[in-house]
Formats: sequence, C-alpha cells, structure tokens
Amino acid sequence: MKILRKAHEGNDWQETTLENFIESVKITRDIILEMNIKDRNADYYTEGFALDLLKNGNIIDTPVTLFKLGEDKDTNKCPICNKYYIGMGSLSRRDNKTDICSECGMREAMEDMTKNI
Ligand SMILES: [Zn+2]
Repeated sequence: MKILRKAHEGNDWQETTLENFIESVKITRDIILEMNIKDRNADYYTEGFALDLLKNGNIIDTPVTLFKLGEDKDTNKCPICNKYYIGMGSLSRRDNKTDICSECGMREAMEDMTKNI
C-alpha cells in the first residue's frame, strides 16, 4: 500500500509506504518523549491512532497532523485501555452509559458470551 506524503521542502508530493509513515510516527513519538515536549501529547503519535484516522478517511500528510486531528472534538479516550479513538465507540455493557473504544466493547461482548456457555 502506498500513500502520498508532502515533502518538507518544496511542494512536491512524495510517495511513501504505510510502513515508512508509521516509522516516522514512532520516531516523532520518541522525540516528544525524549525532549519532554509538554504541548504535544505523545499518545496521539501511535500506530493504532494513526491507522484509526486513516481508516476513518483522514488524510495525514505529516505526523503533526495526528496532533491536530487528535485535538479534534471527535477524538475520544477510552477509559479502559486509555487509547484514543475517533468518533463513535461502544457503550460499555458494564454500566450502559460509559463510552469505550470498539475494541474494548468487543472484548466485553466476548466476555459476556463466554460466561453463558
Ligand atoms: Zn479501549
């Protein structure tokens, strides 16, 4: 899978692979953590969050876009696994009011299913 990425210099678009893009996301995260940059939330710079955004049709030209989209109102943090997710998640089966990510929602559903076997 190829994705396009805007070059840092000039206005040319460069082709890059998803693997390379994820690698640059991880490097950005390392830099933020290493340099202790307070106004950048390192949790946005993760593979899972980047893939979530891509799956939701967002265009990510540089890792900084992750931060911009992360600060967006549609971004939610799952209280169970602490991961960020976009848009609608799941309603927790434990209390029927807490919004959780779809992965945790799926896990709760599986747990309930295995209880009934
Ligand atoms: Zn979760």
